[in-house]
Amino acid sequence: MDLFEYQARDLFEKHGVPVLGGIVATTPEAARAAAEELLPADGGVVVVKAQVKVGGRGKAGGVKVARSADEAQTHAEAILGMDIKGHTVQRVMIAEGADIAEEYYFSVLLDRAERRYLAMASVEGGVEIEVLAEERPEALARIAVDPSEGIDDAKAAEIVSAAGFADDVAAGVTEAIQKLWTVYAESDATLVEVNPLVRTASGDVVALDGKVTLDDNAEFRHPEWAELAEVAETDPLEAKAAESGLNYVKLDGEVGIIGNGAGLVMSTLDVVAYSGEQHGGVKPANFLDIGGGASAAVMAAGLDVILGDEQVKSVFVNVFGGITACDEVANGIVHALEILGDAATKPLVVRLDGNAVEEGRRILEEAGHPLVTVMDTMDGAADKAAELAAS
Ligand code: GDP
Ligand code: MN
Repeated sequence: MDLFEYQARDLFEKHGVPVLGGIVATTPEAARAAAEELLPADGGVVVVKAQVKVGGRGKAGGVKVARSADEAQTHAEAILGMDIKGHTVQRVMIAEGADIAEEYYFSVLLDRAERRYLAMASVEGGVEIEVLAEERPEALARIAVDPSEGIDDAKAAEIVSAAGFADDVAAGVTEAIQKLWTVYAESDATLVEVNPLVRTASGDVVALDGKVTLDDNAEFRHPEWAELAEVAETDPLEAKAAESGLNYVKLDGEVGIIGNGAGLVMSTLDVVAYSGEQHGGVKPANFLDIGGGASAAVMAAGLDVILGDEQVKSVFVNVFGGITACDEVANGIVHALEILGDAATKPLVVRLDGNAVEEGRRILEEAGHPLVTVMDTMDGAADKAAELAAS
């Protein structure tokens, strides 16, 4: 489970990580009241921050500084309801403003391949860390952390020195990352990321933005997580999918994906991302596993969700017929298109294989729906879907 920034802030505070005051609000009026509470009497600022579980909110216009409660309310009006990479903003956090002197980066995460944890730190934070890792990998220190030892004094010193923190912040950063380690360990997290960790003009080290992923496998020993899970993000498409019992995750690309079986859908995402590089960098728009019985109703519900995503330009239906044979799936697709009628507006690339594949393909050919292209191979179909999404 990923936490919202405000939930991460609260968790940090509980563990003594230095953070600034923050109050979550769902209406502009509540944002105003929160700003009145947080604004210092002698001027100063608050920051209105979109609460969505996706990075790059700042760049998308979802983080705005306000000098008064009036201004905070105006910003909240603009930010609430905003779409950030497909996530609708339903809450904002009003945060105490920081006078930032420098922005750093720190994270600790589970390194599955190495069977240990990995700490990463940089004195060049604030920017997107993927960009930094790509363009200036030497500026991002990566330090292995032994799970049985954690980030003790020696490990913290090693991280601070490898990242090249200046002497005047070393003590503050050391303390902050050890506290962040206790957040990670005691919360059974798989990721704790702070970007930016800042030095303020007065020399304090403060975590200004937090991203936390909790390990769902540890849920049984954290009754307090129920409360965190309650505030679901309820993206309208995800909510719609959940109503139909579909396993759907919205992503940020243009090629809608429907498949049967989680493994097949995952590999479909990979081949589409790969083919997309040949077609202007288009990417998968979602994960959608319609499971074993790909009936017309289930197929129609899946297509309906995907076609409701404005970002989607084409759809790739990738089905391997097993117990549910390809002819049933093909009939499902044909009937789904009948059910959707004019609501089906985007090209569909269908790849069928497995049980009764010939019959399935014949059914689709005979139906001859103008939006449907049948392809024989997964790679060919991925390429076609990416090409259609790019055009
Ligand atoms: P993200 O874009 O989703 O990562 O959101 P962040 O919370 O990291 O905010 C983006 C940027 O906004 C930060 O890197 C800061 O430069 C700026 N920012 C955030 N909070 C404050 C603040 O309290 N004061 C000032 N001056 N800038 C802030
Ligand atoms: Mn950030």
